[in-house]
Amino acid sequence: MQKELEEKLFDTFPNLYADRHADPSVSLVCFGFEVGGDGWFQLLWDLSEKLEKIIIAWKAKYPKEENFPRAVQMKEKMAGLRFYMSNYLDEFEEPIAEAERKSYVTCEICGEVGEVMSNGYWLKTLCPKHVVYKTHWGEDSVYRQIKIF
Ligand SMILES: [Zn+2]
Repeated sequence: MQKELEEKLFDTFPNLYADRHADPSVSLVCFGFEVGGDGWFQLLWDLSEKLEKIIIAWKAKYPKEENFPRAVQMKEKMAGLRFYMSNYLDEFEEPIAEAERKSYVTCEICGEVGEVMSNGYWLKTLCPKHVVYKTHWGEDSVYRQIKIF
């Protein structure tokens, strides 16, 4: 994800991303959003908004508690979003599950409707426009539809 978009999420939801400058031994948030492109930005924005509200309510309830719940890692794995929180609260489950479900039908490059595709090695959620995907090494990989669900 572009740095600017990442910064926008970090700046708008400071409680959720409170560990953005923390040491990697404490939190993996310093690595940013380990996702394939900008396509999940809206999905992450909507999720962040919900989680931030829950954290603010929690902090109001426990004003003396410094160790409030927060994000610890946000990444793509096997074509889907994984979003991990510390001090997990039951209220986190529904919005996180919803965002993870949406990630499997949202192109991770552009945000259009996509589906889970494979190039034989990796799984990604892509729209028809983005099935030819530049690898980190600058080569073209072609992704094809698969049925896993
Ligand atoms: Zn796309």
